[in-house]
Amino acid sequence: MEYKDIIYKTPVKEGLINYEKTFEGFDWEEVKNHFKSFSNHGVNIAHEAIDRHTSTDHKDKVALIWEDDDGVQKGYTFLSIKRQSDKCANVLKSIGIEKGDRVFLFLPRVPELYISIIAIAKVGAVAGPMFSAFGPEAIMDRLLDSNAKAIITTPELNQRLNEVKDQLPMLKNVILVGAKDILNEDELSYESEMNKASEVCKMRWVDPEDYLYILYTSGTTGKPKGVTHVHNDMISHYITTKWVLDLQEEDVYWCTADPGWVTGSVYGIWGPWLNGISQVVYNGRFDAEKWYSIIEKHKVTVLYTAPTALRMLMKAGDEVVKKYDLSSLRHICSVGEPLNPEVIKWGIKVYGLAIHDNWWQTETGSIMIANYPCLPIKPGSMGKPFPGICASIINSKGKELSFGKHGLLALKRGWPSMMREIWGNRQKFDEYFRISGWFATGDTAYMDSDGYFWFVGRADDVINTAGHRVGPFEVESALVEHKAVAEAGVIGKPDTERGEIIKAFIVLGQGYQPSEILRKEIQDFIKKRLAAHAYPREIEFLESVPKTRSGKIMRRVLKAKELGLPTGDLSTLEED
Ligand code: ATP
Ligand code: MG
Repeated sequence: MEYKDIIYKTPVKEGLINYEKTFEGFDWEEVKNHFKSFSNHGVNIAHEAIDRHTSTDHKDKVALIWEDDDGVQKGYTFLSIKRQSDKCANVLKSIGIEKGDRVFLFLPRVPELYISIIAIAKVGAVAGPMFSAFGPEAIMDRLLDSNAKAIITTPELNQRLNEVKDQLPMLKNVILVGAKDILNEDELSYESEMNKASEVCKMRWVDPEDYLYILYTSGTTGKPKGVTHVHNDMISHYITTKWVLDLQEEDVYWCTADPGWVTGSVYGIWGPWLNGISQVVYNGRFDAEKWYSIIEKHKVTVLYTAPTALRMLMKAGDEVVKKYDLSSLRHICSVGEPLNPEVIKWGIKVYGLAIHDNWWQTETGSIMIANYPCLPIKPGSMGKPFPGICASIINSKGKELSFGKHGLLALKRGWPSMMREIWGNRQKFDEYFRISGWFATGDTAYMDSDGYFWFVGRADDVINTAGHRVGPFEVESALVEHKAVAEAGVIGKPDTERGEIIKAFIVLGQGYQPSEILRKEIQDFIKKRLAAHAYPREIEFLESVPKTRSGKIMRRVLKAKELGLPTGDLSTLEED
């Protein structure tokens, strides 16, 4: 990417104003001081995110603006979330849920999901949110692996649980939201229990190192891992939300992610509420017009979403944007996958806003590398390390590499929200620290001389073709610049002559048909943009590319299918 492509955003008045100065003087201890309870009796993130606000003028501020597919809307103030979650915590206590017990959530994005997660934290238990689209196998894997004691779900979703329940002897209780029928012995009605429960609940103060949630990774590269996080994470949640998402008092914020993915838990629950921000939750499928109507109706000011959604909005076209008043929007952020420069350019054209990419993982527990409103963006770059984060590019022996060199993206441990455990798998956990002194992220990247980080690929996805290392993202981004290409997934395909050749799977935009001429045209297009060795020698047109439920292209599935190998764990695969 050339320097001329740098985009400057308007200067910021609040939040992170001077990146360099803040980075130099940053101290996690100072952020911790924001939370008074660290110096008292113990902490609880639910106190800091919800209850604390009810003794301030935030009490009657709207915490949650909820809307579903059918246009049903509900609003909750911080006080009502406190009361509801107190009741729910009492329900959990009444069935014997204690500190450290795992309570899983298998719900659509209904208000009860958010209330339950707060309640689980209030009793010191560990929340395990799952995507509501999971099938019986995926549910069983996660409940078994984590030894879950209770689950909160709906009667409809419970049917899937019932298929595997006989294999889950440790699962004692099933709480059903919206149950109308007679219940089984181990089942309880959420509504009836809530009606009986007291509104007064004593907060369970815990140690900052006590567990808060367990989340299974997206499964992009293999079987999902149960990553465990603690209450202490709140320090990272709070400050990253403030400085990257740039949330301020008057904002109406919408994180489009489901809490079953780490983004939806950290930045769709904790981060914004720790900052006392009003947030929107939409319980429905992606639909460009619906999304725009939500922004218009609720006057959303800050949007946090993922590249796949942004690519879909782009595919829906420029005309539909004009039908809605999106003037409330002032900041857009993206995470989860590389953000193609083409999408940023398009965002500037249609929204008048530069989309800010940031990078993190379930394991890091909060944003690690980001583009900030106060810094210029280089389209295609993930940005710079968050203050307090030491990120570097290293080789396999731990030696730091110079500017521009591709290597392993690694972090120095010591930030508050680093995972504490891969549940029940010490060996897997230790693998992240196999290079002495570093937390190896499993991604490859490089850093330019301005300190910006550029994503190359998952370490396993990097293609070695005729001695050249090529990241799939680079090729995919060039492909989506072609007017006919809506989406692309790129893999290395074994080749006797070149080691690997680059193969691209392409989804065409509306109005385009696969043809030999188009294939050749796309290849020539890439040859002009990238180094000669980086063009896809093979192109296959597909109706869709396999993706995780959090919207990540599953290159391992493309590769396994191409090579006729087993596809591995498909629990997180999104089905159309
Ligand atoms: P699994 O570990 O099970 O294979 P996963 O790595 O996709 O799944 P997550 O923790 O949800 O699970 O995702 C983190 C990964 O997503 C990062 O390691 C990185 O590969 C990718 N990622 C996240 N944000 C970005 C970004 N801004 N640019 C490029 N890649 C990103
Ligand atoms: Mg991962």
